[in-house]
Amino acid sequence: MSCFRVPVIDVQSDNFRELWPSLLLAIKCSSFIALDTELSGLGARKSLLNQCIEERYKAICNAARTRSILSLGIACFREMPDKAEHTYLSQIYNLTLLCMDEYVIEPQSVQFLVQHGFDFNRQYSQGIPYHKGNDKGDVSHGQTVRSLFLEILRAQKPLILHNGLIDLAFLYQCFYAHLPDSLGTFTADLSEMFPAGIYDTKYASEFETRFVASYLEYAYKKCKRENCKQMDASGKYLSIEFCNYPASMSTHIDYRYCSLATASSKSGTEAVLLCETFSAYGWCPQGQNCAQSHNIDLIIDEDEKGEKRKKRRHRRKRKQNVEAVADMFVEQDGSPPEKQSCAPTQEVSTAESNVPTEKELNSSTVAMGEQETDSAHTQEEAAAPAVLSPEAPRAKSTSAPSDQEAEESGKRGEGGIHRAGFDAFMTGYIMAYVCMQKQGPTREAAENPWLPDCHNKVYLSGKTVPLHIVKSIFAKSSKAHSQKLKLVQGLA
Ligand SMILES: [Zn+2]
Repeated sequence: MSCFRVPVIDVQSDNFRELWPSLLLAIKCSSFIALDTELSGLGARKSLLNQCIEERYKAICNAARTRSILSLGIACFREMPDKAEHTYLSQIYNLTLLCMDEYVIEPQSVQFLVQHGFDFNRQYSQGIPYHKGNDKGDVSHGQTVRSLFLEILRAQKPLILHNGLIDLAFLYQCFYAHLPDSLGTFTADLSEMFPAGIYDTKYASEFETRFVASYLEYAYKKCKRENCKQMDASGKYLSIEFCNYPASMSTHIDYRYCSLATASSKSGTEAVLLCETFSAYGWCPQGQNCAQSHNIDLIIDEDEKGEKRKKRRHRRKRKQNVEAVADMFVEQDGSPPEKQSCAPTQEVSTAESNVPTEKELNSSTVAMGEQETDSAHTQEEAAAPAVLSPEAPRAKSTSAPSDQEAEESGKRGEGGIHRAGFDAFMTGYIMAYVCMQKQGPTREAAENPWLPDCHNKVYLSGKTVPLHIVKSIFAKSSKAHSQKLKLVQGLA
């Protein structure tokens, strides 16, 4: 658990058909599905944070209609009934996409993506093509991204997102139908598209687990840590397994190494000065130029010491608007434009200075890893063999990652390239953890309603109340949606 390899399968036009059956099987057999998107941009930031939610929805619609999804992460989690409770098999896909309609791509997005390893050559040569808006021709059959989205709807699984409103609008516009003009129609449509419910892990992190911070990587690492503690303290913990993929697939698999860097055990921690802004929001206007540490493991260590808790809470209140901005840019989970998102407010200076410090964060993670993986690593393995994935034996045979592996993990580690696939995995992991926490000790308790406290509640930046995904008595479904729904149900 403390150190596992997460296999993310790269799906592009040259292997999409080949992977189609396994992708469909993963979706159909899952207990829930986590999605994440990377976008070509978001347009004017300020309107995305409008106090009026209807206005905010209009701005999001405008963004979704003019921009596109560059990649889609799908993480399927399947609870394994024949294994220990809370054991999931996770299958993770990162689809590289190519929108065939005209769309806006913001220069800052390109810059950000390139800096984080996004390969535009590959996108243009290997991206899976799709058209936005309403269906053009028959999509109920065939192997396209839009028909894949229909299959996700057909599966009727709980949908998990992190700060998911923008994702939902883009998914709808890019793979489903032209977005309705009214928010009420949009939520009515969504409630019928996802009858098993939509869950937002940012909402869950903020209002259910009440972590000190709720940005994706923080919530994920915090859940992993808490899980390790529970593993030692009680028999109830989350266990994730992965498939053993054949060697023939290796060129399409991107392994992410996740170690649990418990920096507290290591000496010299005091010398590191943490960036307060980053620690609270997961985002800092200084970006890579920030002189202070953006290391999330150290940040969590500090939070766990508890002293800063009150201080930060206090500060967060004062700067709620800043946090909302940070949510929008950083949180819309890894989607580059908002992360990078220059000038969330006018005060913020250059685009460059706003690029989050993933690289810096990484190099410090690597440095720490070298100092302390050994102990943490072997200890964990000895303590909890049950948690090891089928992948683990390989990692196990070497007591610590080799230099090359460490370097690799540094380059592509959790804080590294924000691949939609890995972000989807982190999102699903948080949900699985929260779900375990909220339900009773028996499996029966997991039966519906699945996590009622978070059911159909989507996080709204800067708001204390979520957006409810419901069909109100006043709202009508959209016409395009009603037609699509027949396709989903196989009636058309
Ligand atoms: Zn900073």
